[in-house]
Amino acid sequence: YTRSYYEILEKRRSLPVYAQKQEFLQCLMSNQTVILVGETGSGKTTQIPQFVLEAVHVDDAGKNPRKWLVGCTQPRRVAAMSVASRVAEEMDVAIGEEVGYTVRFEDCTSSKTVLKYLTDGMLLREAMTDPLLQRYKVLVLDEAHERTLATDLLFGILKRVLRNRPDLKLVVMSATLEAEKCLEYFSGAPLMKVPGRLHPVEILYTREPERDYLDAAVRTVVQIHMFEPPGDVLVFLTGEEEIEEACRKIVGELGDQVNVVPLYSSLPPAMQQKIFDPATGNRRKIVVSTNIAETSLTIDGVVYVVDPGFAKQKLYNPKTRVESLLVSPISQASARQRAGRAGRTRPGKCFRLYTEKSFNNDLIAQTHPEILRSNLANTVLTLNKLGVDNLVSFEFMDSPAPVTLGGALSDLVDLGALDADEGKFGNLTRTGEMMSEFPLDPQMAKMLIVSPKFNCSNEILSISAMLSVPNCFIRPRGEARKEADEARARFGHVDGDHLTLLNVYNAYKQNNGDSNWCYENFISHRAMKSAENVREQLVRIMSRFNLKICSSDYTSRDYYNNIRKALLAGYFMQVAHLDRTGCRYLTAKDDQMVHLHPSCCLDYKPEWVVYNEYVLTSRNFIRTVTYIRGEWLMDVAPQCYHLNNFKNCETKRVLQK
Ligand code: ADP
Ligand code: MG
Repeated sequence: YTRSYYEILEKRRSLPVYAQKQEFLQCLMSNQTVILVGETGSGKTTQIPQFVLEAVHVDDAGKNPRKWLVGCTQPRRVAAMSVASRVAEEMDVAIGEEVGYTVRFEDCTSSKTVLKYLTDGMLLREAMTDPLLQRYKVLVLDEAHERTLATDLLFGILKRVLRNRPDLKLVVMSATLEAEKCLEYFSGAPLMKVPGRLHPVEILYTREPERDYLDAAVRTVVQIHMFEPPGDVLVFLTGEEEIEEACRKIVGELGDQVNVVPLYSSLPPAMQQKIFDPATGNRRKIVVSTNIAETSLTIDGVVYVVDPGFAKQKLYNPKTRVESLLVSPISQASARQRAGRAGRTRPGKCFRLYTEKSFNNDLIAQTHPEILRSNLANTVLTLNKLGVDNLVSFEFMDSPAPVTLGGALSDLVDLGALDADEGKFGNLTRTGEMMSEFPLDPQMAKMLIVSPKFNCSNEILSISAMLSVPNCFIRPRGEARKEADEARARFGHVDGDHLTLLNVYNAYKQNNGDSNWCYENFISHRAMKSAENVREQLVRIMSRFNLKICSSDYTSRDYYNNIRKALLAGYFMQVAHLDRTGCRYLTAKDDQMVHLHPSCCLDYKPEWVVYNEYVLTSRNFIRTVTYIRGEWLMDVAPQCYHLNNFKNCETKRVLQK
């Protein structure tokens, strides 16, 4: 059964934005920038770009075919892909033809494409090679309320572009009313409001704080199912593992009475589309999602929302310059958005798994913009590449703290990306130029750039690719788990996780990318295919800079040492030293106490390790860890010496020896 074009058209016409189509187009024709605010689900993301497209078509069809693109940014790649396929379906075209999407490492567009959904990060990248964004006739910055780092940078960039290109038009779209800030920023731009059609949502709080929000969420779903009238349920959790666990528990409790559908970013696209399928055979649909369902994707039919009050969020400590992903309480604004998801079809209920007192006293009013919660090394590089060398004069909507910018600048000096002279920051070096071309964090880019010197760029390419895609190890519950862990152990490398990832990649290639081989070894075929694709793209960038793609002799004693040294040359700021207890580590840079993540393949505790990621949960973990030798620090990263960053006394002592 396929939905017909007319059936879909009927649905499109019933969306709130449709009633304001003419008004919107007139507004756009007489202004360069328009700000549009509308309730989630009112049809902004799917309809507005189509309206624009029709208008552009009529306006100057064929006059300037190269300036024809309508671009619409999304903070999340899943949203960009999902919305693009939906719009392609609405327009009755194949995805990648007239309607396409571009996300990091994946370009699904063609010469026919006239409407392109892309992540905000991708548009920033495009601005690096096309500073005036000449290909676009109209740009739509969607989900502006999310205030992602990339969207904030685009605001500043676009202000300049708009001044230089009177023919370009900009639509800024947002779900909540933080519009005042936008209005002030784009002074003179009119604000258009799409009235919401929300039904009342009853809010219920717990009487006591919940100890385990996952169990509480599952319990609440079971109660809703038993005691509440029909209507679908949307549960907000923080990430893949939690979501999978909750899904299993719900199925365990309710079995075939419900359709349980997970939604998170590393889910294959076909599975992601499943959230839109109506439940089959009188069953209740239960969607368990990350906060992507908060405003980015709207699922029709939801009547009950379960909100534990948490999300995985980026946090940055400007003192230690450590950025980490942390499960932390959401804001009141987010909680309201989540509740709103229950009232789209009819009056609904939102079950908040925290107390009313907690909502009022503990939750902050608004989530802070990401730019205030990030390590800005990458941002400084990007802006530099975009021709913004004076950060002070850049029009930030919210300016980052000077100490954060200072930290970013000195990290870049340590990485050799910026000149520094007598404490003054200078220009982008050749290395810095190259680093900014890689769509990667500066450390990984640095590691790739130096890898030919260690005669192991082939290996570092594979490792970088593996680090850039979702976790490749599949870990099912129950019986199969032991088998999966054994399979994983077979790839284990005695020196650590980076080399284990290299083993997996090599084994995959030796087996010609066979999906059966992946299945038998509990390896995600999808993750591996992405890694292969990412690797090819990185190879292209390396070749552009004449960086040699090479390997040393596999049997030589130094083969693995070289790889580990190259790792260190990029990630020398992420080193930890075993402390006196012999079971914990202290990070060299800022003396944080950390533990090896349970997923780590090392079955001993080396004195020094380099790590890829700092994970804060109930404990502090370092994840993806490889054993290095302390004396390498001096050879590979002599910058360490004058780094005041190294607060750890033990580290200093050893380094000074
Ligand atoms: P907004 O951007 O204002 O939040 P959207 O344009 O995303 O609204 O959504 C408009 C409608 O389109 C919603 O009812 C949503 O459920 C529906 N929709 C979006 N994507 C899909 C899809 N892939 N399948 C079915 N319906 C979809
Ligand atoms: Mg939207």
